[in-house]
Amino acid sequence: MLQQTQVKTVLPRYHQFLDEFPSVEDLAAASEESVCEAWAGLGYYRRARNLRRGACYVMENLGGVIPSTASELEAIPGIGRYTAGAIASIAFGEEAPLVDGNVVRFLARYFVLPGDKEDKTLKKTLWATTTEMVKGKQPGDFNQALMEQGATVCKPVAPRCGECCVQRDCGAYEKGAPEAYPAPRPSAKRKSLFIAFAWHENKSGLWLEQRGLDGLWSGLWELPSGQGDTMEEAMADLAKKVSVDASEPLMTVRHILTHRNVEAVIYSLGKLPRSRASSGKRYRLPLEAPLSGLARKAILATQTVL
Ligand code: SF4
Repeated sequence: MLQQTQVKTVLPRYHQFLDEFPSVEDLAAASEESVCEAWAGLGYYRRARNLRRGACYVMENLGGVIPSTASELEAIPGIGRYTAGAIASIAFGEEAPLVDGNVVRFLARYFVLPGDKEDKTLKKTLWATTTEMVKGKQPGDFNQALMEQGATVCKPVAPRCGECCVQRDCGAYEKGAPEAYPAPRPSAKRKSLFIAFAWHENKSGLWLEQRGLDGLWSGLWELPSGQGDTMEEAMADLAKKVSVDASEPLMTVRHILTHRNVEAVIYSLGKLPRSRASSGKRYRLPLEAPLSGLARKAILATQTVL
């Protein structure tokens, strides 16, 4: 739940989720739909589905008992090396290492290691290094301290070297260039994605639809849309659902994703299909729904011209 989401947002949701699925058995017995419903608003629905898939695996293959070692945990679908190390060390006290983005940054600076943050050799070195470092009495505390150091002190920008407890031995600090490590990533050329949105508002609110549970912005809400590699493709995709007044767009917004430059054009809806017109549940108050970042931007921008 904490991936890309702040602790204060997650806390109440975490307790609600545990109330609904108090055991591995309950989670495995629940339908995928009900687990995703309980996850609504947290985004990245693949995590919810993986969690349920993992619970099913534990029930079917491990007699309902969650294993306590990183190597056994890694066999569970949805649990990677980092998560296995975190669970094994924090919950079960195994001397299991973990490496996340914070750990990469902190140790790359401390040991003055070459390579950008995704560099395979750098990661391999860090897994080997942390395997040695984690040996001791409280491996879970050690791993949490390592992650916290990266998250709160050795930050990506303007690291707090003046307050850092390992400053004396830090190689990057000694060189006077903490932010030069890890090396910057060569910038990948972003592809373009075009989206055509349909805008329809009535007394019940704005017409929103939920995206599918796979792919970009999975499970989040947005204006009815079509997408493609060109605006023509996006319009053709949208036309499969609704007809819009293409003569005069209401608004154009641009949005940047890690690998994509997105251009979205918002059009007024033409004639509303009868089946949709009678379906009240498709209308929601726009800013209360868990919207994709692009949809929120598009709605706010369009509201300024209406
Ligand atoms: Fe990071 Fe600065 Fe501490 Fe080095 S001294 S570990 S660069 S915060």
